[in-house]
Amino acid sequence: MKYEAVIGLEIHIQLRTRTKLFCSCPNEYGAEPNTNVCPVCLGLPGALPVLNMEAVRLGLLAALALNAKVYKRSQFYRKNYFYPDLPKGYQITQYVGSLATDGSLTFEHHGVVRTVRIERMNIEEEAAKSYHAEDGTVLLDFNRSGIPLLETVTRPDLRSPSEARHFLELLRRTMRYIGVSSCDMEKGELRADANISVRPVGSEEFGTKVELKNLNSFKAVEEGLTYEYNRQIEVLKNGGKIIQETRLWDEHLRETRSMRVKEEAHDYRYFPEPDLMVLELPDGMLEEAEAALPELPEARRKRFISEYGLRPDIAEVMVQERDIADYFEDLAARIGDSSLAANWISTDVMRVMNEMKTDIHGFPIPIDDLAELLKMLKKGLITHNIARTVFDKMVAGEGTAKEIIEREQLLPLSDESELLGFVEEAISANPEIVEKYRKGKVSVIGVLVGYVMKKTRGKANAKRVKELLEEKLKA
Ligand SMILES: [Zn+2]
Repeated sequence: MKYEAVIGLEIHIQLRTRTKLFCSCPNEYGAEPNTNVCPVCLGLPGALPVLNMEAVRLGLLAALALNAKVYKRSQFYRKNYFYPDLPKGYQITQYVGSLATDGSLTFEHHGVVRTVRIERMNIEEEAAKSYHAEDGTVLLDFNRSGIPLLETVTRPDLRSPSEARHFLELLRRTMRYIGVSSCDMEKGELRADANISVRPVGSEEFGTKVELKNLNSFKAVEEGLTYEYNRQIEVLKNGGKIIQETRLWDEHLRETRSMRVKEEAHDYRYFPEPDLMVLELPDGMLEEAEAALPELPEARRKRFISEYGLRPDIAEVMVQERDIADYFEDLAARIGDSSLAANWISTDVMRVMNEMKTDIHGFPIPIDDLAELLKMLKKGLITHNIARTVFDKMVAGEGTAKEIIEREQLLPLSDESELLGFVEEAISANPEIVEKYRKGKVSVIGVLVGYVMKKTRGKANAKRVKELLEEKLKA
């Protein structure tokens, strides 16, 4: 029997606001523990929350980007439970009366178009961060307490671990495009829990689901779900039953283990937050958010393929970050050649960015200068090898393309008689190679081409050199 996975995700995205959701403490990562705190986010008696409308604006942008239905009126509730990282004894969140529901995100996975439905999107507050020391001590940092979160819950529409990863990567990219969050998983700005069950392929019924936690990276999402998928199939094949439980993914042991068995649903005793009014979107706020929405990554990827004729894999690389996509379109327009622009960005530009651990804003060559170099290459004024050499010198800050080429006399050898001199030299200096060539091993001509390229310091046109060599050797 063949099984398929049924996966749903519950995602938490930290919204990139200046201040926290209900107080004016800074929303920043990495500050000295317990310094960005006040009576509101410490849950002191009598402190009153005031809603940060910037968080609402970002939530609206996210909801629109996921084609969700946004409600003009929504409400905050108290979700009651006790845990040391929750100083008030309740979390302020949205419950009935979400900010938005019924969204979707469509993507292509291994050539198949997939749509994942979004059930709901709620604004809520973060808990504090707890650190568990080895001796059992628990330390709490309330800097995180009260940071705005966007809870995004999907329907169980994902059918494989790799699809779940792909979806989450596109969701992250989308959120970064619209500027609502950096979604850095290492900093906990994007977190995902998963529900997974398995069922025989073709079956409409759902199996018993297991909740999977501690998926702290894209790799963990895919690996944890794959492990769980195989574990559940193994249990069923051996005649066992899946128990509804919460399991933790252990990245070091590379397995999931049971955390708690759900005996019954939690009773969170939800009730409307009495210290906050019903959230009614001010006139024009939704329309403004709609107008501010940029072209989204999936639409842009498709356009790059149809408008510029990019290969699908190159288009995927070009839309990874909005800034890279913008840079690509700018560079392509300047040099009038989109595939040349995409090729240089996806190889040399990205290589330098990786080496320098910077983004496109920190890339050392001004776009004007790079365009000038690529235009010279496009016109055939310089060879590809020379362009590479000049590019590296530009990265090292040795000047513009024109300056470097003039200073180092890198313009190509266009004088045929001069070129012929090098070709003749190559032939007379390599008698054994010439003999091999004449005996039919034509591939050795590469050695002679290499000789000329070395002697001319890469300034010769390799194709022309080969032609001249062939003429001479056949004569
Ligand atoms: Zn505060």
